[in-house]
Amino acid sequence: MSKKPKHELENNKLNKRLRHAVGDAINDFNMIEAGDKIMVCLSGGKDSYSLLDILRQLQASAPIDFELVAVNLDQKQPGFPEHVLPAYLDSIGVPYRIVEEDTYSVVKRVIEEGKTTCSLCSRLRRGVLYRVAKELGCTKIALGHHRDDILQTLFLNMFYGGKLKAMPPKLVSDNGEHIVIRPLAYVKEKDLERYAELKQFPIIPCNLCGSQPNLQRQVIKEMLNDWDKRFPGRIESMFSALQNVVPSHLADTELFDFAGIVRGQTLKHGGDLAFDRENVPAQFSGSPEDGSEAAPPRKVINILASKPK
Ligand code: SF4
Repeated sequence: MSKKPKHELENNKLNKRLRHAVGDAINDFNMIEAGDKIMVCLSGGKDSYSLLDILRQLQASAPIDFELVAVNLDQKQPGFPEHVLPAYLDSIGVPYRIVEEDTYSVVKRVIEEGKTTCSLCSRLRRGVLYRVAKELGCTKIALGHHRDDILQTLFLNMFYGGKLKAMPPKLVSDNGEHIVIRPLAYVKEKDLERYAELKQFPIIPCNLCGSQPNLQRQVIKEMLNDWDKRFPGRIESMFSALQNVVPSHLADTELFDFAGIVRGQTLKHGGDLAFDRENVPAQFSGSPEDGSEAAPPRKVINILASKPK
């Protein structure tokens, strides 16, 4: 029997890891249901190409049927290579719509030179994408944000916004009409970089608008990358923390009824550790310390299971 070359084995492993991470997120948050029509937002960057690619793989094997339609918004930035995405989407045979909307001129007209343009630009883009989802009759909108985007947002909100808030894997759109999903929520950015190289996606540069990168996000990204190198496992542990929130041990009076605490109540989440040294495990185990409050994730369908014969 011929042995597969090492790089081929590694590539298969990467593909399998990505499929499982995406499948797990879809299952844990019930992101996709039978009959869904999912609009996959494609920017031309590594994340959205990978998202579409993995969703197509899952679509081919999943035990339920759902549709995918790729949508790209051509914002009329100077130098945007219009032919790249249609050529790619034709070559893989996925249904798609390219929407042309000159948000670039609007942003340039409204925002003063030298000021950051991203927040208005994203707001305009969101509005167009919601409208298109409605026109196409889509039930879900899939975005390509990954695990590292979610953690960066958590720190941005903590450092600059005074909020313990990240980026949800699933939410209802601002107008209440659409469900937005982030199937890459469990995927590491590094894996997406490798996958995009492996698949040779025709990447479109993201700096065509001439906007400066968000410096605060860049600094946080570098901080997280540095931690990842120096303290292996820390990033994974931080992401697990987002899935193991203990409101009684934070300080939000909206989230937990501190005023209603009375004597004689039973201990929750290990009770009061104020007088003890908290015993934090060296390696995060992923389960709460008393095991009593954790609800099992609601598994409606298993997207990773095979199609029924
Ligand atoms: S980088 Fe440019 S295209 Fe992207 S959100 Fe900011 S202004 Fe818009």
